[in-house]
Amino acid sequence: RLRCYEPALMIDGHRVEVVANIGRAEEATQAVNAGGEGVGLLRTEFLFLDRTSPPTEEEQFAAYHEMVKALNGLPLIIRTLDIGGDKAAPYLDMPAEDNPFLGVRGIRLCLARPELFRDQLRAIYRAAKYGPVKIMFPMVSMLEDLEAAKSMAAEVRWELGARAVEIGIMIEVPSAVVLADEFAAEVDFFSIGTNDLTQYVLAMDRGHPVLAKQADGLHPAVLRMIDRTVRAAQGAGRWVGVCGGIAGDPKGAAILAGLGVAELSVSIPGIAAIKAQIRRLSLAKAQDLARRAVACRTAAEVRSLPL
Ligand code: PEP
Ligand code: MG
Repeated sequence: RLRCYEPALMIDGHRVEVVANIGRAEEATQAVNAGGEGVGLLRTEFLFLDRTSPPTEEEQFAAYHEMVKALNGLPLIIRTLDIGGDKAAPYLDMPAEDNPFLGVRGIRLCLARPELFRDQLRAIYRAAKYGPVKIMFPMVSMLEDLEAAKSMAAEVRWELGARAVEIGIMIEVPSAVVLADEFAAEVDFFSIGTNDLTQYVLAMDRGHPVLAKQADGLHPAVLRMIDRTVRAAQGAGRWVGVCGGIAGDPKGAAILAGLGVAELSVSIPGIAAIKAQIRRLSLAKAQDLARRAVACRTAAEVRSLPL
């Protein structure tokens, strides 16, 4: 009766997973109640912001464990700390930067603060004992960063005697798209962060008071990057999700499904609507829309394509 709890199947039976973006422990339950098929992006920054010292391993474990329990067997993708850029934690004493979005942010910060990173990885591997947890690294731009992060994860796993966990990266920097073949060989999945990818592809600050409205994730330059990413992943047998804002936009969701994106991770209130949108389409129709969108010249042209 309540269609939000049913899978999102297209007219021809093609399935797209619809999961939630969350940023608080109690939102795991809300995601399930809204029909989410899991969590595609847990933003862990909430554990680190607005305080005077970093959270302990124990505190983090308690939060992740609570979410794993609330999800009751549904997958939970935990993104490691993505601080820096527009988010700061005073206790980290980070030197001021002229261009923080191009600075020590995300995985770069974690690699620069191995004690911080290690505590988070330990908490994640411990929580993974209780359900299907996956690890995702943000702001990966170079293979060296992924290698260093993976080796820290492997070390932690070995120390704990923990079971293997799927590891993925966010694709949100143009170099990661260009190197997608190489990255795909090193990870289990990709999740495209179109909020940042748009900012870095169009060279427009995502929070800029004047430019932000032009920084549209449906810009064909961004869609072509997504297309390229999906094709590289598929070539290596990896799946791709999208967790940026366009996954929760009806036209965006249709285009992404047509490009071969397997999982859409959206805010909790958007879950039912995105499932409904997927059900209105056939894969062939979505693919046709995606082909036309990728061939557009401007975001306005994409926005005016009939759905
Ligand atoms: C993104 O960049 O698209 C994303 C989902 O991550 P955040 O918005 O947390 O940077
Ligand atoms: Mg991002």
